[in-house]
Amino acid sequence: MKNLKIKARAYALKNAIAHEGKAVQGAVVSGLFAEGLKPAEMKKYGKEISEIVKKINSLSLEKQKEEFEKLKENVHEREVREGLPELPNVSKKGVVMRFAPSPSGALHVGHALTASLNFDYINKYGGKFICRIEDTNPDNIYPKAYDLIKEDIKWLTKGKVEVVIQSDRMNLYYKYAEKLIKQGYSYVCTCSGDKFREFSKQKKNCPCRKKNLKENQADWKRMLGQSAYPKARSSGAKKGFNPGEAVLRFKSSMKHKNPAMRDFPLARINETPHPRQKKKYRVWPLMNLCVSVDDIEMKMTHIIRAKEHRDNSQRQKMIFKAFGKKYPWEAYLGRWHIQGMRLSASQITKDVEAGKYSGWDDPKLPTIQALMKKYKPEVFWEIAEQRGLSEVDKVINKDDFFALLDKFNK
Ligand SMILES: [Zn+2]
Repeated sequence: MKNLKIKARAYALKNAIAHEGKAVQGAVVSGLFAEGLKPAEMKKYGKEISEIVKKINSLSLEKQKEEFEKLKENVHEREVREGLPELPNVSKKGVVMRFAPSPSGALHVGHALTASLNFDYINKYGGKFICRIEDTNPDNIYPKAYDLIKEDIKWLTKGKVEVVIQSDRMNLYYKYAEKLIKQGYSYVCTCSGDKFREFSKQKKNCPCRKKNLKENQADWKRMLGQSAYPKARSSGAKKGFNPGEAVLRFKSSMKHKNPAMRDFPLARINETPHPRQKKKYRVWPLMNLCVSVDDIEMKMTHIIRAKEHRDNSQRQKMIFKAFGKKYPWEAYLGRWHIQGMRLSASQITKDVEAGKYSGWDDPKLPTIQALMKKYKPEVFWEIAEQRGLSEVDKVINKDDFFALLDKFNK
């Protein structure tokens, strides 16, 4: 964690001022957790933090106030809770932001709150809000989800949204993949999964990494090409790869300190028929490739997403860099844990399909379909705004959560 000492001082001063000059160490520590300090790091820094708190508590209240003025920008906005923090680099045209669900079912309250926080900024600054349905994994699609998501997001934004479906943009992803190959940022790897993991573990390049441009272009065609697929016939490939025999990889580094970043895959072969595209394509871009291409093409200005996407964001930054593009401003959000409610789109889909509920709008479900019968979309905008840009997970029980919805549903 950067600037730990300064941040610890700032939080201690803030807490001391709020408590007649005496800071409570626990409150200082939870402030630092919110800033990214890990509980496991307390062993290392605990003593230092308690020294700082002691020192601050020995100052007069006047002096504490004076010192806090100098350090207050080290206390994050979300701690001060003054509503929606301003975003940097907002142009006159406003912002372009997005919400990117996968089509595994109807949207639920967790989606509603993440989408709303992004949408709050469209309301604040103007601009464009895009709902991008990420459906380039043919194995993970619930066909009814397309219409459900469209209906849900239109309700949530009162129609101020553009809905885009990734599988309609395949040629664009192919074009970018081919550019990466051409510029030497990408290669077709024919190692088995196990073999590649072994290279990765040893921080060694796999032999495919040495292939020249011509070989890579030919192998890419072989990935695209096999008999029954129209794209295959047009590419003129005679002998193609089978699924699992080849993947397109990004040349990051095989020595990257995080193994998950080492030459990560960009596209793979999957012949499962796609619910919308049927058998039109057999090479499917993986999320890091299509998300990067779309964020570049759609001129995304700011990205606010769930914090579990941190590694993906690092991969996407590398792809942006390869294309010489500046990465949008980004922030991460903690999850909502609503005790007594399971927020899983695919589980809800299973249960609805199994007839456990009367439908998507069953009042017992946390779906937007159910909530839109009782609440106005503004309720979700306000709850998202009140919480702001917090990376800390929020735990709330079901009754308290509904009380919160009712409070805003004027
Ligand atoms: Zn290889």
